[in-house]
Amino acid sequence: NTKLTETLKINALVRPEVAGLPAYGAGQTLSQAQMARPSVDMVNLSVNENPFGISDRAKQALEQAFADAACYPDSQCLELREVLAEQLPFELERIVVGNGSEDILSMLCKAFIKPGDQVMVAKPTFSLHPIYANMMGAEVIAVPMSADMHYDVEDWLRHIRQAPELKVLMLANPSNPVGCTLDHQGLTACIAACPLDTLIVIDEAYFEFAQQDETFADSLAILGAQSHPWIVLRTFSKAYGLAGLRVGYGLVSDSSIIDYLDRVRTPYNVNRAAQSAAIAVLKDPGYLQKTCALVSEQALWVRAELKSLGLFVAPSQANFLFIDCGRDACQVAGQLLEAGIMVKPWREPGYEHYIRMTIGLEQQNKRFVRALAQILQGD
Ligand code: PMP
Repeated sequence: NTKLTETLKINALVRPEVAGLPAYGAGQTLSQAQMARPSVDMVNLSVNENPFGISDRAKQALEQAFADAACYPDSQCLELREVLAEQLPFELERIVVGNGSEDILSMLCKAFIKPGDQVMVAKPTFSLHPIYANMMGAEVIAVPMSADMHYDVEDWLRHIRQAPELKVLMLANPSNPVGCTLDHQGLTACIAACPLDTLIVIDEAYFEFAQQDETFADSLAILGAQSHPWIVLRTFSKAYGLAGLRVGYGLVSDSSIIDYLDRVRTPYNVNRAAQSAAIAVLKDPGYLQKTCALVSEQALWVRAELKSLGLFVAPSQANFLFIDCGRDACQVAGQLLEAGIMVKPWREPGYEHYIRMTIGLEQQNKRFVRALAQILQGD
């Protein structure tokens, strides 16, 4: 039949690296889940969003951005980079902005990874780390977390020593989905063990939640003291509450990295609304403080409740908890969904009993704990 012939033709056209890739599993949105269950009051604790919703200042900035929507945005994101440069402080020439930090990750892989290059990632980790590396035909080396769900520095050092041609070291600090962090000593050791021409990628999507902790590695200080090329990725999607607008940034060791990213970048990758709202939230420290205070207080409470249910919860400095339910995570997530709570179940071999739950507002967390307790004690 013609449909089949058409599909076969396309299969023969596609790059083999792409044919072998899984698509990123973004899951349902809150409104999709709500539409499927109109009688249930839904809460989304599955994608690590900010439970307070958008900040008032960002909302005001958006009104202006929409008024100017007939005009193209600044393709260089100059004003946003200037504000970042003042706050960090860091030279503007070494700051790059993307359509979410994942856009920068994608540009980085397109610009720097060629088929056969070795890329080292964690396991489990943010799925786009291996997906984007595989998209370019890399050989992905995945280093598992320790049994108690920490970064196993000794194991990373062993893997790094066995990869003398390592092209890219890519790790999230704090980790997603685990939430654990590398400290100064651990991160320094991993970077120092890499060949001097390895590109070091530190994904700090959850940086703002962890930075108060004095053991959390100061990546900029550590990388600045080493001789490797590097990029540190951050985002406005989590603590800054702008996930829907898609904006993130990267800090690089040398502006020539950005020159290369510019060659694979879509020209107007960050829209006008995203740029304006990001500038507004950077100028609204109260929103960030309120968010981080809620998350640290509520994470302690949820962790204690889960512990009293006898569950193992991985160490976390981020705005989510990785929880061993002791049974099939997809089933538990399905039952939670029926109770109106969206969480993310893990499917990777070895972690099929884990769900990842985003810390929400107090009432949302209480609902989650109550529903999970009922599910686990129900049979
Ligand atoms: N890195 C990590 C570790 C993440 O968890 C996420 C979002 N889930 C991202 C990057 C991408 O974030 P965004 O594109 O929204 O900035």
